[in-house]
This record gives sequence, structure tokens and C-alpha cells, in this order.
Amino acid sequence: MSKTIFQKIIDREIPAKLAHEDEFCIAIHDIDPKAPVHVLIIPKKLIPRVGAATAADQATLGHLLLTAAALAKKLGIAESGYRIVINNGRDGGETVPHLHVHLLGQRPLAWPPG
Ligand code: 5GP
Repeated sequence: MSKTIFQKIIDREIPAKLAHEDEFCIAIHDIDPKAPVHVLIIPKKLIPRVGAATAADQATLGHLLLTAAALAKKLGIAESGYRIVINNGRDGGETVPHLHVHLLGQRPLAWPPG
């Protein structure tokens, strides 16, 4: 199976602007940001999407959300607020089949999403 773009970034085959890295995940600034802060938190383990996660991924999934909250503080959007998004499948808008959490902020975000 060919590597996803995010796997290539994790493996340092493609550059990205790093916001955070630890044993379990990497966080990068989105190449096409939809808000002044738009970071992607990506597990190092290849889980294609939330719908493909198993009970064995429970700690990883929790870690992604806690990392998003920590990054929101680090990037200065914890007080003003932010949105965490996970796109799953075609109608959800998923374009890269490697699970990633979007962290968006530093502007008011409309609801409902388009
Ligand atoms: P999805 O639509 O799958 O939820 O989100 C994929 C996200 O990855 C998009 O927001 C897109 O802009 C971002 N993206 C795609 N390719 C690259 C890349 O090569 N580098 C970075 N930093 N972001 C990327």
C-alpha cells in the first residue's frame, strides 16, 4: 500500500511546519489553512479514520484530543475558543485516509458547517 501524504510527513520524506511531536502523534500547520490557526494532529500509527479505529486505539484517540487542547493553549486560542473537527468518509469531507484532528481558531467559526 502506498504511503499517505501524512505518513510521508511523519517519515520526513515531505516537509511540513511542525507544531508538536511526541511518541504517539505529530501536529503540523495545514498547508491550506481555513482559519488563522489551523493545525492537524495526526497519530503516528496509521488509523485510516475514526470509523476504522478499534478498542486498541482508545488511548491514541484520547491522546489526539488532549494534544489538541494543549496546542490550543500553546497557540493562544484557548481563551477565545476553537473548533476540533474530524472528517470521516466522503460526505464528511475526508480527503486523506490517515486519521487527523483539525484544530481551528483565531476567528469566529460559523455553525452549522457547510
Ligand atoms: P481532510 O479533508 O482529509 O479532513 O483534511 C486534509 C487536510 O490536509 C486538508 O485541510 C489539507 O489542506 C491538508 N493537507 C493536504 N496535504 C497537505 C500537505 O502536504 N501538508 C500539509 N501541511 N497539509 C496538507
